[in-house]
Amino acid sequence: MTVEIDTRTDRAPGRLVRPGDRDWDAVRGAFNVLVDQRPEAIALPTDAAQVASVVGWARERGLRITAQTTGHNAGPLGSLDGTVIVNTSALTGVRVDERVRQVSVGAATRWREVTPLLAPRGLAGLHGSSPEVGVAGYSLGGGIGWLSRKHGMQTNAVTALEVVTADGRLVRADHEHEPDLFWALRGGGGSYGVVTGIDFEVQPLKELYAGALFFPVERAADVLHTWTGLLASYPEELTTWASIIHFPPLPEVPEPVRGRSFIVVLVAFLGDEADGSDLLRPLRALGPVMDSLAVQSPLGLNRLAMDPEQPLPFRSTTALLDRLTPAAIEEVARVGGAGSALGLVEFRHVGGALHRAPEGAGARATLPGDIAFLSLGVVPDPAAEPVVREQLLALEAALLPERAGDYPNFVMDPADPSAFFDRATWARLRRVKDAYDPDDLFRGNHHVPPSPTPR
Ligand SMILES: Cc1cc2nc3c(=O)[nH]c(=O)nc-3n(C[C@H](O)[C@H](O)[C@H](O)COP(=O)(O)OP(=O)(O)OC[C@H]3O[C@@H](n4cnc5c(N)ncnc54)[C@H](O)[C@@H]3O)c2cc1C
Repeated sequence: MTVEIDTRTDRAPGRLVRPGDRDWDAVRGAFNVLVDQRPEAIALPTDAAQVASVVGWARERGLRITAQTTGHNAGPLGSLDGTVIVNTSALTGVRVDERVRQVSVGAATRWREVTPLLAPRGLAGLHGSSPEVGVAGYSLGGGIGWLSRKHGMQTNAVTALEVVTADGRLVRADHEHEPDLFWALRGGGGSYGVVTGIDFEVQPLKELYAGALFFPVERAADVLHTWTGLLASYPEELTTWASIIHFPPLPEVPEPVRGRSFIVVLVAFLGDEADGSDLLRPLRALGPVMDSLAVQSPLGLNRLAMDPEQPLPFRSTTALLDRLTPAAIEEVARVGGAGSALGLVEFRHVGGALHRAPEGAGARATLPGDIAFLSLGVVPDPAAEPVVREQLLALEAALLPERAGDYPNFVMDPADPSAFFDRATWARLRRVKDAYDPDDLFRGNHHVPPSPTPR
């Protein structure tokens, strides 16, 4: 469907960028540059009232709406025919109330703008591996990071959401107001409206013992065998990720790792150095070639994972796993180890608080599995694609027997979102959609449609 919008006669509310406009390509870009977003138009409202006007404007023209903050998870949207992107990147603002450990942000906010305000106050948010990820999409889809084994998912730390609904109202959704909408947004995300503001709770944390143990990539199987064997004994205060990382030979990559490959054990321990060292002794005994573990401010967690921060072209795969078997480890080391075409093969120890639904949880109450697996390969040109795809498929096949489910925020391709929830949760998500957006105006990246209409 192509909708003709003549911006000279058909005045849209606020700034609207259309195909052919000078900054079209700059504005429509996603974090994964292989995702070629071609919506009908992109609206850039500067406040909630403008968001509401855009919603009304699009609705009158039979257009659908998808909200976007940073474009870190644009891949699942697929074709954007007949759809307007409402880009919330002008809805800025961060406020910290340290007395009650509450943060309020505009929907433009990225984690990098929040963490530096928290650390000096002895606070930390439940952010993930990349400071460039938006608080909005991260929080609406779940949000797992360094403190999740202890404190759960970010979505359940959210205390209120300001959202423009399909009828153009700006509502505040929390446990007392619009409780069904509040529940559905925390897991069902962008299918219910355009979020303009988010309030969330943060944790007290002055310092922690954190850093990375680097081993040559040739030791991948040894390290993964030892790491896997330790997980069941690790307390919820300790989060470790084991990642094979093939660092690109780019000038912005720090010299000691530039162009080299490692298996890295990343560590965040909510405790002191002595206890942390005890817990990590079996891994240190494997003889890391670099060891950056130190007592530090939670600010150090921002870039601990060394994620890419600039848009890049990639293919990825993911799964939640019950365990990593010895046979799977050997295959992972063979496919993802020295000489692999993949850039990252990451295993995060999850579980702990992620297995327990906190009181008042949203639709994404828990995550199954004890390990979150994520792998990606950079595809700089089409010739690189077949081998990256083949290696991602080989990893999927090796890990399939231990698959426990999916973590939607890591799913970066179109998928069946009903598989991300149990049947009762999915049915409730659709009922809330019926109540708030029966005409299916809003498209989430992992979309929740209204209930099927009876024939
Ligand atoms: C490099 C990288 C590192 C990552 N690390 C982690 C991690 O450690 N832990 C983790 O849990 N996840 C992680 N993710 C996944 C990340 O949480 C998702 O990609 C998330 O959806 C990004 O949110 P965003 O707002 O930045 O992206 P966007 O693509 O802008 O948004 C994703 C979706 O969220 C919804 N949405 C966004 N903004 C709004 C809004 N204002 N109103 C309503 N709906 C909205 C929409 O459905 C949208 O399609 C990572 C992703 C990447 C690429």
